[in-house]
Amino acid sequence: MKNKSCYSILSSHATMLDGIVFRSRLEARWYLFFKSLGLEVCYEPKCFAIEGGIAYKPDFHLPAQLHFPLPWWFEVKPSIESDLTKPELFSSTMDSAIGILTDLPRDDSDDELCKFTILAGPGGDYNYAFCECRYCEVIGFTWEGREDRIGCCCSDERRYGYRTAKLAEAFNNARNTKFAFVPTAQRII
Ligand SMILES: [Zn+2]
Repeated sequence: MKNKSCYSILSSHATMLDGIVFRSRLEARWYLFFKSLGLEVCYEPKCFAIEGGIAYKPDFHLPAQLHFPLPWWFEVKPSIESDLTKPELFSSTMDSAIGILTDLPRDDSDDELCKFTILAGPGGDYNYAFCECRYCEVIGFTWEGREDRIGCCCSDERRYGYRTAKLAEAFNNARNTKFAFVPTAQRII
């Protein structure tokens, strides 16, 4: 069976930031969100061979780091109704959870902030959110934005840290940045 490669032609929505060519503005905005929080984030760092000989590169990896204790893979999609076949196969083949990031929250309602889906093995879960520990200020991506699940071990008290000034500023930065037009027809690996 012929393997599909990880090469692809960029669309007219390609956006360059920090020397990285993103396939879409939404991806670039999520990159800005992570950078605004001062986090190390890798864009398409690795190509995985998933079921059926399909090649797949998750959009982002956040390694475990001082201010983000638990590592996460993320895939950016315009909508949760988008085709999730590849991230689903990645999750089951690699036995790894992956968060599906759709548009950035437009307001600070619970529905907007806690709206993200994850895929994990044969199933998944809903209502994930970025959150911040009120004690040590580290960032996490947890179910319902629960601080006690961030992994910093400050407290086991059930608290919700998805509505904080630092996160709101990062979302605003990511949403409001204006991008310059980038000529297309480039090939990237
Ligand atoms: Zn903490």
